[in-house]
Amino acid sequence: MSEFETYSCGSCTETFSAHPSSNAAANTYCSPACEIEGKDL
Ligand SMILES: [Zn+2]
Repeated sequence: MSEFETYSCGSCTETFSAHPSSNAAANTYCSPACEIEGKDL
């Protein structure tokens, strides 16, 4: 049974599925690369 939810990436605006308790859901980035882009590191 899936508890994944759909989120919209904060960097590339791509939608992706992630578990609500996951890092990706907390940051709303679809990948580590987008997290870096989104945070402008
Ligand atoms: Zn992305």
